[in-house]
Amino acid sequence: MSGRWKKFLVVIAIAGLVAVFFAFDLQRYLTLAELKARQEAFTQFYTANRLLTLGLYFGLYVLVTALSLPGAAVMTLAGGALFGFLPALIVVSFASTIGATLAFLVSRFLLRDWVQSRFRDRLAALNAGIEREGAFYLFTLRLVPIFPFFIINLVMGLTPMRATTFYWVSQIGMLAGTAVYVNAGTQLGQIESLGGILSPGLLFSFVLLGTFPLLARKGVDIMKKRQTLKEFPKPKAFDYNLVVLGAGSAGLVSSYIAAAVKAKVALIEKHKMGGDCLNTGCVPSKALIRSAKLLAYGRRAGEFGFRKTETEFNFGEIMERVQRVVGDVEPHDSVERYTALGVECVAGEARISSPYTVEVNGRTLTTRSIIIATGASPFVPPIPGLDQVDYLTSDNLWQLRELPRRLVVLGGGPIGCEMTQAFARFGAEVTQVEMAPHLMGREDADVAEFIRGRFEAEGVRVLTGHAAKQVVSEGQDKILICEHDGQPVRIPFDQILVAVGRRPNTRGFGLEELGVRLSEPGTIETDPFLRTNFPNILCAGDVAGPFQFTHTAGHQAWYASVNALFGDFKKFRVDYSVIPWCTFTDPEVARVGLNETEAKQQDVDHEVTVFELAELDRAIAESETHGWIKVLTRPGKDKILGVTIVGTHAGDLLAEYILAMKHGIGLNKILGTIHPYPTLAEANKMVAGAWKRAHVPEKLLTWVEKLHAWRRG
Ligand SMILES: Cc1cc2nc3c(=O)[nH]c(=O)nc-3n(C[C@H](O)[C@H](O)[C@H](O)COP(=O)(O)OP(=O)(O)OC[C@H]3O[C@@H](n4cnc5c(N)ncnc54)[C@H](O)[C@@H]3O)c2cc1C
Repeated sequence: MSGRWKKFLVVIAIAGLVAVFFAFDLQRYLTLAELKARQEAFTQFYTANRLLTLGLYFGLYVLVTALSLPGAAVMTLAGGALFGFLPALIVVSFASTIGATLAFLVSRFLLRDWVQSRFRDRLAALNAGIEREGAFYLFTLRLVPIFPFFIINLVMGLTPMRATTFYWVSQIGMLAGTAVYVNAGTQLGQIESLGGILSPGLLFSFVLLGTFPLLARKGVDIMKKRQTLKEFPKPKAFDYNLVVLGAGSAGLVSSYIAAAVKAKVALIEKHKMGGDCLNTGCVPSKALIRSAKLLAYGRRAGEFGFRKTETEFNFGEIMERVQRVVGDVEPHDSVERYTALGVECVAGEARISSPYTVEVNGRTLTTRSIIIATGASPFVPPIPGLDQVDYLTSDNLWQLRELPRRLVVLGGGPIGCEMTQAFARFGAEVTQVEMAPHLMGREDADVAEFIRGRFEAEGVRVLTGHAAKQVVSEGQDKILICEHDGQPVRIPFDQILVAVGRRPNTRGFGLEELGVRLSEPGTIETDPFLRTNFPNILCAGDVAGPFQFTHTAGHQAWYASVNALFGDFKKFRVDYSVIPWCTFTDPEVARVGLNETEAKQQDVDHEVTVFELAELDRAIAESETHGWIKVLTRPGKDKILGVTIVGTHAGDLLAEYILAMKHGIGLNKILGTIHPYPTLAEANKMVAGAWKRAHVPEKLLTWVEKLHAWRRG
């Protein structure tokens, strides 16, 4: 039987039972007056048939709570009146917990997947909270009867809480309330109304009891953190409010914010201000890509009406321009600029010697808080023979002044793809090797295949599904040996660029000695406030993960610095709800939110709307008609779940969707916004239009057509 049918049958069964309950007005038997009236008869029946009565009572109690029917309170009183305090407490405690758990399981079976997929983004924080301290919340809710129990059962079923946790927390949490009602039942004659059972004093005691574990846990957390710090002598006064390790994107923004709010901050950099992004990452790579693009345009000159163009170049001069570009951006990240902003910049290798002290150049800086922003380094896989050749990485690539004749690029991720295309455009014979079935592993297969097609059209040999196994030298030749479908594949090369990922920089500056915990992928383990297991040591950027982008490093830096400086008063959870990125191939590939692959994997209901750039006037005028915009929306709604853009300036076009997603703006609003003609940005309105056309109210239009016909007479 399919899942849908099973759900349907469960709904029918529940609806039937509830209908019977109300149709026959069974509720009238579950009132205080009825109970009092029949107490004598019930007691006689119980005296004659003890086990049967207990069994029937138990079954009925389970049914009432499992179906969320009104009457559990009266039944509890009845239990006390009939069986006496202790037996009733035991029976009601188990029956109510089993019934509640059944209600929880039914709600989970029928609705959880749907609710979780529909409100995934909004529920993310709640789910995380439930996973962390759901048991405490449930316990509080059970003891503090603000929300009716049946609502708690049904709502908890929609969360990721485990059924066993729900069961035992409910059993313990409901015990005190059950005891009060059972006890009241033993003196049934004196009860005038259900409302009077819980006196305000008793209610207040329950509130205290219910919130106690949660408060206690928070207290223990604070104590534990204090304890972690206790073994380190705390300076009487601090030199700094904040010391930041690393002046890359994360460190620069952290210290900038600290200085802006008038904190005393030291920024320590062991190599170059600006870190990877400026010196060996985003800036040089984009500068190189720009020169390569001009060459590619030269080759396409015919498309633009030229008979012939000739471009002469020297690769060394291209690389010198790259350095000039880095030099032009350098002032933005310079010691001079940051000093003027109020940051004390220190050149030197920092070492954290305690949660309050950082050593640099033989000095000890005392500080209230520390931010680790030490970035990441190229990961070099342990391929036998690789260390015998002078392999390139994104660190030393920029020193090249001669174009390699045959270049192997190991890795099909963003850096690998960007460099593959750029070097191929300069005329290197590039072979790109990727172990996975397609390039750009994060993106949809259609995107990856399109980019692969473009690369191949430009002369790149793309080898996916090829695992690099060994590097050998034979005479003058260096050869990469890969395995593909169980067969060895030999690829001769002059240079090899290793671009298979980046490893967080966590070693050699005191973290191991101090006991700062690392997480599975090698990043520093943090809580949602970017604090490490030491509450005054925080981190941001590549070393913190989970993303490795300049913009996410800057985003985290805000949270890390604000939490470091003001966390004792107010802390902010880092918000990862809308994270965009772009790979700067030609055409660019930009994304925010879900793509189709992820939506399917996560079982998120979605619709796909695609607009081909070949339809856009500006793209046609520019001969840049390759690519598309793919928008995922909630079925029948204009709410954007994710956007992938493949095309020229895709990264810039994406900005409108990032804003829309961040602020809950749907496609209807984008459609209703004027976009200047003819721009590439108009494509965003076009895709919104395509979505609208697919959602025209056909029925309404039939009536409107009739109206027009009638008005024509
Ligand atoms: C080729 C390439 C292209 C890229 N392109 C893009 C792109 O287009 N867009 C994008 O968003 N991202 C891109 N990135 C990623 C981006 O560069 C990183 O995500 C970003 O630089 C991370 O910033 P960070 O501050 O965490 O680390 P980093 O920039 O690496 O800075 C860390 C700094 O800490 C210093 N440091 C380390 N240990 C110590 C110590 N003990 N004492 C003092 N200083 C220390 C290091 O010297 C370094 O300067 C690219 C990366 C590469 C390699």
